[in-house]
Amino acid sequence: MPGTNLTRVEAEARAAVITTDTYQVELDLTTSEDTFRSTSTVRFSATPGEATFIDLIAPEVHSIVLNGSELDPATAFIDSRIELTGLLAENELTVVATCDYMNTGEGLHRFVDPEDGEVYLYSQFEVADTRRVYAVFEQPDLKASFQFTVTAPAHWHVASNNPGTKTTVADASVTIAQTSHDVARWEFTPTTRIPCYVTAIVAGPYHRVEGTVQSRKGEISADVYCRKALAQFLDADVILADTQKGFDFYEKTFQMDYPFEKYDQLFVPEFNAGAMENAGCVTFLENYVFRSKTTRASMERRTVTILHELAHMWFGDLVTMKWWNDLWLNESFAEFVSTLATAQTKHDNAWVTFNSLEKSWAYRQDQLPSTHPIMANIRDLEDVEVNFDGITYAKGASVLRQMVAWVGQDKFFEGVAEYFRKHHHGNTTLNDLLVELEKASGRDLDSWSDVWLQKAGVTTLRPVIEVDAHDDIAAFAIKQEVPAEWPTQRPHRLGIGGYDVRVDEHGDVALERVMFVEIDIDGRSTEVAELIGVHRPALILVNDGDLAYAKVRLDKESLATAVEHLSGFQEPLPRSMVFAAAWDMTRDGEMPARQYVELILKNIGAEDQSTVTMMLLRQLETTLALFVTPEESEAATHAAADALWHLAITAEAGSDNQLQFVKAFASLASTEGQLDSVQGLLDEKLLLEDLAIDSDLGWDLLTSLVAGGRCEEIAIELQLTKDATASGERRAALARAALPTAAGKRAAWDLLVNADKDLPNALQSAATSGFGHVLDTALLEPYVDEYFGAVRRIYNEKTNEMAANLIEGLYPSQLAGRMPDLQDKADAWLAENDDAHDALKRLIIEGRDGVRRALQAQSKDS
Ligand SMILES: [Zn+2]
Repeated sequence: MPGTNLTRVEAEARAAVITTDTYQVELDLTTSEDTFRSTSTVRFSATPGEATFIDLIAPEVHSIVLNGSELDPATAFIDSRIELTGLLAENELTVVATCDYMNTGEGLHRFVDPEDGEVYLYSQFEVADTRRVYAVFEQPDLKASFQFTVTAPAHWHVASNNPGTKTTVADASVTIAQTSHDVARWEFTPTTRIPCYVTAIVAGPYHRVEGTVQSRKGEISADVYCRKALAQFLDADVILADTQKGFDFYEKTFQMDYPFEKYDQLFVPEFNAGAMENAGCVTFLENYVFRSKTTRASMERRTVTILHELAHMWFGDLVTMKWWNDLWLNESFAEFVSTLATAQTKHDNAWVTFNSLEKSWAYRQDQLPSTHPIMANIRDLEDVEVNFDGITYAKGASVLRQMVAWVGQDKFFEGVAEYFRKHHHGNTTLNDLLVELEKASGRDLDSWSDVWLQKAGVTTLRPVIEVDAHDDIAAFAIKQEVPAEWPTQRPHRLGIGGYDVRVDEHGDVALERVMFVEIDIDGRSTEVAELIGVHRPALILVNDGDLAYAKVRLDKESLATAVEHLSGFQEPLPRSMVFAAAWDMTRDGEMPARQYVELILKNIGAEDQSTVTMMLLRQLETTLALFVTPEESEAATHAAADALWHLAITAEAGSDNQLQFVKAFASLASTEGQLDSVQGLLDEKLLLEDLAIDSDLGWDLLTSLVAGGRCEEIAIELQLTKDATASGERRAALARAALPTAAGKRAAWDLLVNADKDLPNALQSAATSGFGHVLDTALLEPYVDEYFGAVRRIYNEKTNEMAANLIEGLYPSQLAGRMPDLQDKADAWLAENDDAHDALKRLIIEGRDGVRRALQAQSKDS
C-alpha cells in the first residue's frame, strides 16, 4: 500500500501518461475551525485509454467528477490517492473535499494568536503537502497554470502567487473570537506554468506594508506582511532595500527579467524552516521580525535568506528540477548566489560567515555515517524528506564555489544565463546545466562531477613541513587523507598562507601575512616546490582564502601560534579558518577539548564578526557539555561561565559581543555567584551599560534561573503576564520544560511524547530544547529507555517534520560518558528495528554517532 509515499518510478510513469494544463482551486476558509472546503478542477491531457491517479490527503471527499461522470469516493479514493481510469485525450476532473487545517507547518497551517484570538493561516507545500489542500498531481515536473479563489473573513488579507481582487459576499458571516465578520471572495489571476509545491495561500488579519521594487521590466508591487502583534517591529524599509539589491543583482547576472507579476514577502507564525520560495509570495519565519535587540549575525542571515528565496524565483520556480534528486542543485545554487549577492551588495564579509556557518555544517554532516553523495539517489518522498541537510545546502554550495573558481565566474554565469534562456518554464536535470557550463567555459565537467557530486565524504589536508638549521623550509608537502568509507582523492585549487607575529611600538601583537601561494593539488601527497627555501612562518594555513572544500590541519608550531595569538589576525577569514581547523581537531579527538575552550575564551573578546562569535559560543557550549571529560566538565563549565561574565562586563557598551556574551553566560551559569549575577541583571539591580533587558533577553535570564533551580513555575507565569504574546508563549514553554525537578521533566516529556493532542510545531520545538537544558544530566537518565521505546511510534504517528524534530531533539547525547550502556541501547534498538524505515534508522544512527564522537573527544581530553 503506498500510504502517503510516492516513488520516483510512479512519478515517471504518471508523467509519461499525462500533461497538466490548468488548475482552478476554490477554498472556503469559513466552514469550521478544524477544516476547510476545497474544490479542485484540473484540466489535463492524457494518452487515451490509460489510467493514473491524483493525490489528496483529506478526511472526506464529497464528490469526484471525471469528464462528466461521477466516481464513487468510497471506492475511488483510497490511501490518499484517487484512481482515474479510462482517460481521454483531454480531461476535466473536479474533486470536492473537506481538508484539515494543520498545526505542524505542513499543508495549510492554522495559528490562533493568544493575544486577540485572531486566526492566521499560511500554506507550506514543499516537499509534497499541496495535496493536503487540494487534489493535485503532486510532482515537480507536472507544471501547470493555477488559478485560486478563496472565501474568507472580509477583514483578512489573502495573498497568493498572483494579484487578486476582493468582493464582499452578500448575506454571509463568520464568527472569530466571539466577533461576527462579513465574508469576502478573493479571485486571483492565473499563474504562469509553475510546479505545485511553490503555489501558496496566506490568509489572516495580517499587517501589510505596501511596497514596490524596480525591475528591468518596470515597477513591481512588493508588499511586506507580518502578524499584527509584530507590526511595530517590522522594518519593511530594510527588507525592501535588501530585496531591491537582489532584483538589480540577479536580473543583471542572470540576464533575464524577474519572471512573476509581483513579489510579496510574508512573515508568518510557527514556520518550520527559514523561508519558502513560493512564486511571488515568499513566506518567512516570523522570528526574522526582530522584536528584541538582535545580533548582527541574525540580521545578516535574514539578508542572505531574502536573497536566497529571490534567487529561487529563477532557479527553482521558473526552471524546475524534474525530480527531487536535483534538490541539492536547487538549494546549493540559491545558497551560493545569495552569499555572492550579499558579499557584493551589502556585507563584505559574507564569505567569512559562509566559512563559519555553512562550511562547519557541511563538514559535520559529511562525517556522519549517514553522509551521502551530493547527488543523492532519491527513490521516494521519504528519502527526500530527510535530505534537507548540510550536504544538500552547505556542501553543495561549497562545491559550487570551488567549481566557479575553477571555470571562472564570468563563464559560469554566461552558462547559467543560457540555461535560463533555454529552459524557462520547463524542467531540467543537472546535465542540462553542465552542458551550458561546459559550452561557456570550454572545460570538461564529467570527471569533476564524478568526484565531487557522485562520491561522498570530506578529505583532510595536512601540511608536512621540514625546516633546516636556519629555520628555512627544506620540504613542504600537503597530504590528502581520505576517510576509509569514502576513499576518493580529489583535485583542489587552493591557497597556502604564512603568517608571522609582529609586535608594534605599543606592544600590540599582529599576525601578518608574509607568504602566499595558490596551487593545484591532487592525490595522496603534493610537494609544494615554491616554498622551499622560504623562512618558516610562525603560522602556516592551508586553504587560506577558503576556496577548497576540505578539512585542514595545523602543524604543531602553527597550532601553538594560533592558541597564543589568534586574535592578532588582521583579516577575519584566516581567523575564522583557524578556529574552524581547531574545532575540527577537537571533534576528531586530535585536540584536547579544554585546549579548545581556552582558545575560544582567550580570543573571542577581540572577534568582530558576529556570526563567528555566535558559532564559537555554540561550539563552546557543545565542547563543555559533550567533549570535556565528565570528571572535569563541572569545573570547566564554572570557569568558562566566569570568563564569559568577565567578557560581558568588559565588552564595549551596547555592542553585539556584549549581548552575545551575556546570553552565553546566562546559558552556562550554575554557581550561586553566577546565578546571583543573572538574577541581578533580570531584576535590573545590576546594570551593564547600554544593555536593555528586553523581552527576549528577559526570557533568557529567567530560563537560566529556572534551570539553576532559582525559581519555580510561578515565576514563568508571572513573566508570561508581562509578555502575553505568542512569542512569550513559546519562551514560556521552553522555560517550563527546563524546570530541574523530576516532576518538571516528567511533565515536559509527557507533553512531548505521550500527550493525546500534539503541540503545534513551534511549541514542540521550544519544549524540546527546554527539556535538554539541564545542569545535572542525571535528570535525563530515566528517559533513555523510554526514548528508544517510543521512537518508532513517534515516527509512525506524527508528520515527517514533527517526528524528525522530536527524535533528533530528544536523543540523549548529553549522557555520553555518563551512562555506560548508552551505545549498547542504540545498538540494541538498531538490531531489533532493522525493518524500520531508512529515514528513521538514519536519525538513530546519527544520534549514536554524536555519542561516539563525544566519547572519542572525552578520551583525548582526559
Ligand atoms: Zn531554498
